[in-house]
Order: sequence, then C-alpha cells, then structure tokens
Amino acid sequence: MKLRVAPDEWTVVQDHFDPEANRVFESLFSLGNGHFGGRGNHEERYSGDSLRGNYLAGVYYPDPTRVGWWKNGYPDYFAKILNAADWTPIHIDIDGEPLDLGTATISSFRRVLDMGTAEVQRTFDATVPNGPAVTVDALRFVVMTRPQLGVIRYRLTARSDMTVTVSSQVNGDVVNEDSNHEAGFWDETERWVDGLRCGVVSTTRKTGFVCATTVETQVSIDGSPVGVEVEAVERDKFAASQFEVVLRAGQTLELIKFGANVTSRDVDAADVRPEAEAELDRAIVDGFDTIRAEHQAAWARKWELSDVVIEGDPAAQQGIRFNIFGLNSTFTGDDPTLNIGPKGFTGEKYGGVTYWDTEAFCLPFYLATSPPEVSRNLLLYRYRQLDRAIENATKLGFDGGAALYPMVTINGEECHNEWEITFEEIHRNGAIAFAIENYIRHTGDAAYLLDGGLEVLIAISRFWAQRVSYSPHRQAWVMLGVTGPNEYENNVDNNWYTNLMAQWTLRYTAAAIERAEAMDAARADAILTSIGFDAAAETPRWHEIADGIVLGHDPERDVFLQQDNYLSKELLTVDDLDPAIRPINQHWSWDRILRSCFIKQADVLQGLWVLEDQFDLATIERNFDFYEPRTVHESSLSPSIHAIHAARLGRLDKAHEMMLRTARLDLDDYNNDTEDGCHTTSMAGTWLAIVQGFGGMRVVGDTLRLDPKLAHGWTKLQFRIVFRGAELNVTTTADEVTIDNLGEALSLDVAGTAIEIGANATVVVPRV
Ligand code: BGC
Repeated sequence: MKLRVAPDEWTVVQDHFDPEANRVFESLFSLGNGHFGGRGNHEERYSGDSLRGNYLAGVYYPDPTRVGWWKNGYPDYFAKILNAADWTPIHIDIDGEPLDLGTATISSFRRVLDMGTAEVQRTFDATVPNGPAVTVDALRFVVMTRPQLGVIRYRLTARSDMTVTVSSQVNGDVVNEDSNHEAGFWDETERWVDGLRCGVVSTTRKTGFVCATTVETQVSIDGSPVGVEVEAVERDKFAASQFEVVLRAGQTLELIKFGANVTSRDVDAADVRPEAEAELDRAIVDGFDTIRAEHQAAWARKWELSDVVIEGDPAAQQGIRFNIFGLNSTFTGDDPTLNIGPKGFTGEKYGGVTYWDTEAFCLPFYLATSPPEVSRNLLLYRYRQLDRAIENATKLGFDGGAALYPMVTINGEECHNEWEITFEEIHRNGAIAFAIENYIRHTGDAAYLLDGGLEVLIAISRFWAQRVSYSPHRQAWVMLGVTGPNEYENNVDNNWYTNLMAQWTLRYTAAAIERAEAMDAARADAILTSIGFDAAAETPRWHEIADGIVLGHDPERDVFLQQDNYLSKELLTVDDLDPAIRPINQHWSWDRILRSCFIKQADVLQGLWVLEDQFDLATIERNFDFYEPRTVHESSLSPSIHAIHAARLGRLDKAHEMMLRTARLDLDDYNNDTEDGCHTTSMAGTWLAIVQGFGGMRVVGDTLRLDPKLAHGWTKLQFRIVFRGAELNVTTTADEVTIDNLGEALSLDVAGTAIEIGANATVVVPRV
C-alpha cells in the first residue's frame, strides 16, 4: 500500500507535485453538490497526463453496444453520464509564456481538501521556462446551496514585473475517454463572449439534453477591481474572455470565476441560457463571501447529521470523513430522477449510472443521516422506472407484469455492457425489494407501500415466481443460470443469496399486501385491481415456492452452499495464493477464475448480513469461517460486509482491517485504480462497517438497536443517526455510551438494555 495522503482529521493534503499520480489526485480532489461536479483538474494548462472531467447529474448518452455476436436480450447501449463542458479552465501566459504545470519548474506545491467546508485550495510557486516566477493560490468549491453554481477564487502573485494574459474559458469540446465508438457526444447550439462573461450551449446527440455552461470572471489587483479590455476567443464549442494585466513585483491579481451549469433537465431547453445567466447575475449580486458562507453552513449541517468521530486512529478518522464527504457530494436526494453512480462525479468508469450498489450499500447511509425524503426519493427512482423494468422482463420472455430491474441503468432500461457477468445478476431485484422494507423499518413510513412500494414488490415477486422452475428430480424449486454477487462464478445454479432474497421477497410481498389492505383497504384494492392482481392464484403460489425453494446446505461443514457446485471446486484458501498473482483478475484467465473457488465479494455472507435476523450467531460464524478465507475482496464492495460480520463476531482486529481497507481504498489507492475515480458506492460500505459493524446498529422490527464496540486503540467512537424523528448523537468510550437526542423521544435498545430517551435529552449507559 502506498500511503499517498498523510492521515489528518479534516483534510486531505497533497504536499508535493506528483505528475505520475496526477490522475489519482484529480479523483481525490473532486467536488460535487449532487447536481453537478467534477474532477480536481488544474485551472491552468496541463500538458501532463490528465482526465479532465465535469459531469452533470442525469445528462447521459446511450453509447451503442459493441459485441461480436449479437444475442436476443442484449442491451442496445451502454449509458454514460457525459463529460460536459468544462467551466474551470483559467489559462495564464506570463510575458507571453504559457503557465503549464507540466513544463514549469514548481518549487512548492500544496493542495488541500477541507472536508468540513468542501473546498479545495491549491497553492504553488512556479517558474515558467523563460524565467518569471509566480505564486498561485486557487480555491474552488461547488456550491451546495446553489445546485447550478461553482466558484473559483484564483490569486496570482507576481514575483517580478510582468504582463499576465488571462484566458477564462468554457470548453465544451470534451469527450468521454471510454466511448465505445470514439464518437463525439455533443453538438454546439450556441456560444458567445460578452466581455468578462462567456458561455457555450451544447446539445447531446441522441438524447437531446440541452446544457448551458456560462462563466463570469471578476478581476481585481491587490483588492481593487480593475477594468480590462477583453478579447473574445471563440471556436466550435469553446468560448473565452481573454485579457492582459500588467503586474509589478509583489502585486496580486485576483480572479473570481463563477460558473453556472444549467440543463434542460432543470428548465425548458429554451431557457437554459437565460437561467444560467440569471444564476450568474445572482452570484454577482450576492458576491463570493456570501456564497461561500452559505455553502459552508450547508456543509456544516450535513456534518451535524452524518459525521463519524474516531479518536485514537487518525487513518480511520480521515478515511471515514473522506467517504462521508464523497457520499454527500454525490447525492443530495432532492430529485427522484437522480441516483448514485459508482464513481459519483469523480470519474467515468461504470458510466456514472445506477447499480444495485444504491439499494444494497448506499441506502442505509442516507436513511440514517438525512431526512426521510432523501431515501424516499431513491425508492421513487425505482418506482418511476417500474414500467421499464416490466418491459425489460417482457423482452426476456416473462409476462403478467413481472419486472426485472436492470443491473445497470440511467432511465430504467438495461444498459450494462458486460453480458456474461451482469446479465444474470438478477439478485438486484432482491436488493430493490429489500430496500422498501429497509426504508419502512427505519422511517416507520409504511404508507410508502401505497405510494409505489406495493407495485414494485408485486412486480418483482411475479418475476421470481416465473424465474424459478420446479425440479421433479429434486422435488424442489430451483433457480438455474444465475450470477450471484460473486461475479467470479457465472451461470451457476441455485446461488444461495439469490434464492434467499427471492424467498424473502415472495413472503414479504404477501405480507405487505395484507399490511397495505389493513392500512387503507380502498387504496390497496385500487392498486391491486390496476395491476390485475389475482390473490387466489398468485399469493398461494408464492408461498409454495418460498417454502420449497432450494437453499443449499452442506451437512458436513454445516454451511450454506454458495451454489450447487461450489463444493466440487478445489477448496483452496487465499493463503494458498502466491501474492504475486493477486489481484487474480489481473493475472488469471477468466476461465481459470470461474473454475476457482475464489470469491470476489460477499455472497453467502451478503445474505447473512441482509437477513441477519433469520440466522443465529453460530451459523454466521461457521459461514464466515468457511467463506471469508476464500474471498479475494476484488470488489470494493466486499470488505465492508466482512467487517460488519467480524465486528459482530467479536473479531475486532479483523473488522478493523477490513474497515480500513474500504475507508482508505481511494486515499491509499489500494487497488491502483483511483485514477479512474473514487469508489463512491463503496464509501457507503465504510459507513456500514463503522456504524453497523463497530456501532452494532440494527433496526429490528420497530426498534433501533445499538451495541457499540471500540477497535483496539480507539478511545472514542461517535456517530449520528436520524431515526423516526429522533436525531441521535451516540458517543462510545471505554466506560460508557452517551446518547444525546436532538430530536423526538425514542425507545431503543443499547447492548441489550431497553432505554427511553426524551426529546432533547441525554442518556448515559455504562459499558460492562
Ligand atoms: C461489483 C458489483 C458492483 C459493480 C459496481 C463490481 O465490481 O462486483 O457488485 O455492482 O462493481 O460498483
């Protein structure tokens, strides 16, 4: 592991310029506000290796699928959130010589992400090739309170008398690096330069999103605004305001650059430019300081709800804050048409689109750290796409309103680009169904069943009921030809996790129908009628399948069988592998991986976590001891689930090791892939590992349960939980657990003891 970033509680610091790791740092210094965001690219020219990226949530392109031999059921396209017009470039020439961090001599360089305020500040001293030296101090933030606005304050101090040429740009001439057909995705609609304001409006090909990116730059020297003569520079999809200033040695030029990004998802296509200009007008009137203060206040509130404090372990502290920062930068939950891409706004891999990661990993974080509407919007996202999920199942030969949600989607259509793996991962339907129960359990909002939940559950149950088949040979219901969460086995039979989730969904849906009828019979009946629900035929069938579905078990080892043939494999453990061939996905053929017993990520153990209530501790332990030693954790989603189990089993060192691996995955570039972007959805795994793992947080029935433990060396663990109107701040030390409740009264269970905590009250529970 190469420690790139020294542990610090609230900051991530790059203390020297490192061209080799430029892309890694671009990922780490990404910023976002749920609506748009981008990588930490330098404002200046940079001739070194870089992935410039600015992404607008929900603005995508359907890149046509590329395969050798087309089969029915292939998705037509792989969706990509597009790299969009870049509002950040500020190109500088000094006495006619370009300031390029790839060619300048850099005598000092420091870049700091302040996670508390969500600002990145870069300071450096550079000398351009022909001599003159400058000091630069550039501060950037993507405004949390103004979803369309980003701000840069760029200060350049002259170390000798010089003429500085500034080009403050919008560059819409951008591509996604992994485009399937090397096609451009944007057409210019309009561009203009109007003094110190300029902009580009461009339209996405095929999907027709119209997006305006408009910037305005304010110029001052040593604190006094100066007038400049602007030269307009324009070319296709590009607009810049260019001007010259003369600085004497020691003088500081300050540029405040506001960037407004408005899309036809926000306003009518005809209004994107007027709205972007209006956003800039508001920014100019309010000014840098006011906007910065409101941005900081909004982030302070986010931290009040979601911070985790770990004392005695700076590496873990920094890791968890970085992860929470990433999650809060990516999704703010005010728009049910948006979701969480595996890389957030930090890169292009995975297309920025929605995976099961959202329900399986991210939802619990947002449930516990945000108002309920945020999570409800994640559920509504799937509800709004139900018709497409039914269409998707229909294409594959299912009928009667059965829905198969896509493994990868942006608009409800399946759009993965890895047929053999992703197609058969139908377990995602289980995660989407379980998310409804998770939400209701946490918030108490059972009425959601009547607002979409029931339709989603029934459609998913209809799918399971058709996807299984009855095996006369085994006298049981079987689910053939699937891929479980462990993507290192494809097309297997009776993946235990998938069958378990199907069984759970079928039973839960039947119970949910009864619950909905008890809540509001008229509305429930109207829903059931509208989807042609046949109570006499469908529910009994679901029970029959649930009662008779294969859930493989090995009597000898008393463990569940990951799939029918798992025990036929050579049962090595990870310790048998030569470290030089790890990760196996970079050293072994796919054929060899598929035949091996090595597991990419939690599979049986995923099920034992999701449906933990159904299993006793000894069962969890036996399965953990069998499967964990065979797990290579080559998905970033893997270590967190293992950390939760390990903590529950009292194996705190193992839990800590696993948690740290997720927490610092990007900061330490553990998998050598942070250059592609940060692992945003697995960041939620870190939170799970700490709050569910060490904090022992669970919701059982209607009750919140906590059972905090401290890892070796921790002197304090503190986390926040929003739960049914209560807002808890839970602090654990060696001797006691202190719970401050800033919200409504609540009954809960702490380490097996029932506790009542009043509104705005504090309870201290001694630890035994
Ligand atoms: C994991 C999947 C996950 C995807 C996107 C893959 O490596 O195996 O479970 O959905 O990444 O994060």
